[in-house]
Amino acid sequence: MVRTRFAPSPTGYLHIGGVRTALFCWLFARRHGGQFILRIDDTDVKRNVEEALQPILDGLRWLGIDWDEGPQVGGPFAPYYQSQRQERHQAAVAELIRRGHAYHDYATTEELQAEREAALAEKKPLRYSRHWMAETAEDRRRFESEGRQAVVRLKIPTEGTLVIDDLVRGRVEFDWAQEQDHVVQRGDGTCLYHLASVVDDHELEITHVIRAEEHLSNTARQVFIINALGYTVPTYAHLPLVAEPGSKTKLSKRKLEKYLKNREFAERVQHGRAIAERLGLSAELDTFNPVIVDFYRQVGYLPEAIINYLALLGWSPGDDREQFTREELVESFTLEKVNKAPASFDPQKLWVFQDRHMRDLPPDRKAAFVAPYLEKAGLVASPASEDARQRVAAILHAAGDRIKVAGDILDYADFFTPDDHLPYEEKDYEKRIRKPPEAIELLRKFRADLAAVEPFDAPALEKLLHDFVEREAIKAGQIIHALRVAVTGKAVGFGLFETLAVLGKESALRRIDRAIERV
Ligand code: GLU
Repeated sequence: MVRTRFAPSPTGYLHIGGVRTALFCWLFARRHGGQFILRIDDTDVKRNVEEALQPILDGLRWLGIDWDEGPQVGGPFAPYYQSQRQERHQAAVAELIRRGHAYHDYATTEELQAEREAALAEKKPLRYSRHWMAETAEDRRRFESEGRQAVVRLKIPTEGTLVIDDLVRGRVEFDWAQEQDHVVQRGDGTCLYHLASVVDDHELEITHVIRAEEHLSNTARQVFIINALGYTVPTYAHLPLVAEPGSKTKLSKRKLEKYLKNREFAERVQHGRAIAERLGLSAELDTFNPVIVDFYRQVGYLPEAIINYLALLGWSPGDDREQFTREELVESFTLEKVNKAPASFDPQKLWVFQDRHMRDLPPDRKAAFVAPYLEKAGLVASPASEDARQRVAAILHAAGDRIKVAGDILDYADFFTPDDHLPYEEKDYEKRIRKPPEAIELLRKFRADLAAVEPFDAPALEKLLHDFVEREAIKAGQIIHALRVAVTGKAVGFGLFETLAVLGKESALRRIDRAIERV
């Protein structure tokens, strides 16, 4: 039985790199009919854990990365919060000492610093002298009578090598002489991550530890603990890091200003901010940041587009194929096809995936996906009425692939503005309605024809206008521009006949009346 885990610290946000790790753990578990566990590494968290965890849980749920055991769902190995497992960690440390694989160490910070400086001066690798190591109760009493306090350190071998077979990195060799006697328990009794993680993985019966590459360097000391306690060594897979756009350096939310120098990145951010602004969201860099998953939820990306893109950040199916549904990913995913090289995050490429998945979305799902953005913006009631839904569907049909993310529906806000509140772009109104001497008269006449036309659809409207132009012996432009401004308030938009059809007869007539009166 395969059991994988994602073990985030509650940081208050879900990072693109973090969610890629979660996705690979999830895909691997689903691929093998196993279980995916969410464990919360909250031992070093000072702030309110629940509050800092919520955005992470929300982000995972939004993306459909569901967990079989963990917060909110429970499970047979509860608790799933590291902070609630401290007694088990302490018991493991006691066992390491009992077996002779760890020791109490009474060195002071100054003494350790002096050893470090001496090693540096002699250009020797730093290796602790174990001078203040207490191996007997007598030693401990003696050090404690000097007022010293102990930490617990691993008794790491001084020579030899450790070999692990990493599913991504292949054979990895660690030289024990390069390792330190790492601290596993602090003076106050709390345990460090590399000990806690091993104990939890063991007790949660994790079979595959799939995690970020930066943890590869923790692996030797962790395997030491595992062997010392007689646990089974899990299979490791260290994923390549998710790098900055066009670079090999780790992607960081704090470096956004730097990425904004990349024109395409900046374009995506600007577009997102414009949507956030219309939704009345805070567009501050700290929370509204394209390195954080929530950015995409707020702007209206499709979870399946993000999943598809993230799956290819470090994994490839072995051919040129790029477009995958979630189910197809589960079927094709293997850790052996994960690359070693850093995978650079490219928001423009993510945009391409979004565009493709949006095109593939059936019309009814598309309408259901974008409607909540109109609700959030207060343009339609929540939940949207049947009428509003039909209008959304008609707009989507007429706008075609101009709506790339759900928030783009706000470009068509005018369709949802009450007819007697439609704002007019003054310069357009001036140029197309107020100034041309014939405009008002033409609008009046056309209004009468419009009131009689049946059905009120694009082909019928096109024919109506065509006949009108002939009968009045005018140029089409003379009525088209005035009409567009009258019913939308501005001079740009999609096809005029679609626009009228989407509005419907009543709305169109009311808007024309108002435009005429306004003069
Ligand atoms: N809490 C660790 C992190 O945030 C998990 C490391 C691991 O997967 O072992 O990276």
